[in-house]
Amino acid sequence: MSFFSARVCIIGSGLIGGSLALALKKAGAVGEVIGCGRNEATLHRAQDLGIIDRFSTDMTQAVQGADIVLLSVPMLAMRGVLEQIQPTLQPGMIVTDVGSAKQSVIADAKAVLGDKLGQFVPAHPIAGTEKSGPDAAFAELFAQRRVIVTPLAENSEADVARVVAMWKCVGAVVECMSAEHHDHVLAATSHLPHLLAFTLVDSLARMDESHEIFRYAAGGFRDFTRIAASDPTMWRDIALANAFEIKQVLKRYQGELEALQHDLDAQDGQALFERFQRAQAAREGLKF
Ligand code: NAP
Repeated sequence: MSFFSARVCIIGSGLIGGSLALALKKAGAVGEVIGCGRNEATLHRAQDLGIIDRFSTDMTQAVQGADIVLLSVPMLAMRGVLEQIQPTLQPGMIVTDVGSAKQSVIADAKAVLGDKLGQFVPAHPIAGTEKSGPDAAFAELFAQRRVIVTPLAENSEADVARVVAMWKCVGAVVECMSAEHHDHVLAATSHLPHLLAFTLVDSLARMDESHEIFRYAAGGFRDFTRIAASDPTMWRDIALANAFEIKQVLKRYQGELEALQHDLDAQDGQALFERFQRAQAAREGLKF
């Protein structure tokens, strides 16, 4: 499935938008990349790094003549961006996004795009790092990584196929599913672990003896908490955007913590061993 776009407009040229731009360029799959964001200094930096060819902080100007517009801004900024670009969208332009939760951005698109809703094809690359901004972008980020596309009933098959082809041409493995299923699954595998890591580090950091505790932090602590270095704005937005699903999985996890507390109170080594054994077997069976 080959892909070429004469002009892609990337709104939010940070880690994810910047990496896609670099990957499309490396694949020879794009003629020109136009960057857009709020901050000129960030856009200059993205241009210096070869991520974008030119930029505008005016969204109406930036999307002019693009055949694909990629929204790669924090979740709660999506609606404002959609409002600004809506009047400029011409027939044939595809708008797609990389937001980490899908139902909220789809609700935004439904509220804003009117009869242009069919031009919006929602997607989410399951790839990233704890870093952000254009300096963190790299062309290989999506190689062999999953991208989930959550098509709307209003989308044409051709537009969905074009978004799928774009991600495949940068090496991603693409799957389609409903936005509801996406949000349910990602709440468990991505959103909950991030919120737990943030909460653990925050909780320990606020203890009186935190300096002493962190002095002895070793590999296990580093592995478990790496993602707590992620961008707080992005994660605040994801937490709010997918709050319903996150609350369900958090409630289940709270029950498990209570059971753990009970096993410790009861000095129930057998229960602890069985829990750890089940987890070890499950973890060893995972393929990343
Ligand atoms: P990032 O590196 O911080 O980049 C975000 C970009 O959005 C920045 O270039 C910022 O530039 C711009 N921006 C922020 N607010 C804006 C606004 N109101 N209007 C216009 N531009 C705005 O973040 P990222 O990690 O690439 O994340 C972008 C999206 O990808 C998020 O929706 C996130 O949920 C999703 N995602 C992230 C990951 C991950 O691991 N990081 C993985 C998958 C999906 P200015 O400051 O110049 O405006």
